[in-house]
Amino acid sequence: MKHVVCYSGGHSSALVAIEVSRKFAGDEIVLLNHDLPFWVEDQDTKRFKKEVADYLGLPVTYANHAGATKDQFDVTVDKKAFKVGAGTELCTSVLKTAPFLKWLKENADPSGTVCYYGFDANEPARVQRRSSIMGEMGWRTDYPVALWTERTIRSTLEVGIPLPNSYGVFKHANCVGCLKAGLQHWYVVFCTRQDIWMKAKWAEDEIGYAIHKDKDGPIFLEDLEERFTAMQSAGVQATEQTPSGRFWSQAKKIVAIHATPETKPCECAT
Ligand code: SF4
Repeated sequence: MKHVVCYSGGHSSALVAIEVSRKFAGDEIVLLNHDLPFWVEDQDTKRFKKEVADYLGLPVTYANHAGATKDQFDVTVDKKAFKVGAGTELCTSVLKTAPFLKWLKENADPSGTVCYYGFDANEPARVQRRSSIMGEMGWRTDYPVALWTERTIRSTLEVGIPLPNSYGVFKHANCVGCLKAGLQHWYVVFCTRQDIWMKAKWAEDEIGYAIHKDKDGPIFLEDLEERFTAMQSAGVQATEQTPSGRFWSQAKKIVAIHATPETKPCECAT
């Protein structure tokens, strides 16, 4: 039996790799990764992928698009669109899905292969969607973090491997400047990675459309700069770790307080 772990570099996929390796010791286990350029995939995420693989005594198998030289902006500008079909991010499909399916076709047999994903128990819709998409193509899937009742590990800290640094501010170890992420992620990018911010603005210019939109239409990054600058000046912390609702309501209050002029003179007597 071949066990193919979709090994993204995130913490959940590392737990899947460990659970699958422990349960199916002796079988063929593949840690399949799509490596990304160093400027959008944090060096510490690359460290994490390697340390978990070393702990398991397995190599990381790479299925990369264009030798991992292109990021999410390059591939979307090449195709002149951010999304395809029913709104799927084109970057996912070019950088991850297509190399994954190509690798499976060339290296695995549906009758003797199971593909494993790191979705959480609170993501039943993703589990169902992935099962049905892969099932239609003849591939079997499993979701140890979401579905296995007998778990042996909850954190890689238990085996002495620190989580990727990106979890300090980001929710996921995804690409920095993720085209699927919301404005809170992009506020962090604005504050911490102006190089990625500028490249994203370039991509919006080239494609002629915005990465984000709301009910009133597209929201271009350039039009967010005044708001984000005000938030940054007021000291709104750049983090995805605060739940979204709380983050934006706190940001609103902090910016309002910062903008209120001091009307009374200081009355300290010196
Ligand atoms: S992590 Fe985000 S930016 Fe990267 S490929 Fe996936 S959707 Fe695109």
